[in-house]
Amino acid sequence: MIKTLTVKSSCREEFIDIRTEVEQIIKESGIKNGICYLYVPHTTAGITINEGADPSVKKDIINALKKIAPYGAGYAHTEGNADSHIKTTLVGSSVSIFIEGGRLILGQWQSIFFCEFDGPRTRKVYMKIIKEEE
Ligand code: ZN
Repeated sequence: MIKTLTVKSSCREEFIDIRTEVEQIIKESGIKNGICYLYVPHTTAGITINEGADPSVKKDIINALKKIAPYGAGYAHTEGNADSHIKTTLVGSSVSIFIEGGRLILGQWQSIFFCEFDGPRTRKVYMKIIKEEE
C-alpha cells in the first residue's frame, strides 16, 4: 500500500522537515522491522536527508544550490523554472530508510527534508513500508 503525505510549501525554495509525519505513519502501521521508501512525484521538488538540528544547514544547502543553478541564467527550458528542475535532479527524488524496532534508523542529527524548488505549492510525497519477514 502506498501512503500519500501532503506537503504545503510557503515560498519558492524551502526545505520542510517531514521526519515527524513519517515516524507517525510508521507507528500507526505497527510495522517493527523493514524499509521505508519515500518518493516525490514532482519535477521541481525532491527529497534529501541531512542535518535537522541546526536550521542554518538547510539554508546553506539552498544557497549552494542557487549558486550551482541560478534563477534565469539563460536556460533552454523557458518556463521560468529551469533552475528548479536542475536543483531537483541534484537532490534526487527518493530516499530509503531502515526501520528497526518500530523506529527509523537515522543518525542523531539527521532529518528527512522535502525540498521545494518552485513553490509555494501543495505537493505530494509517496511512502511505502516494506515489512521484513520474521
Ligand atoms: Zn519546467
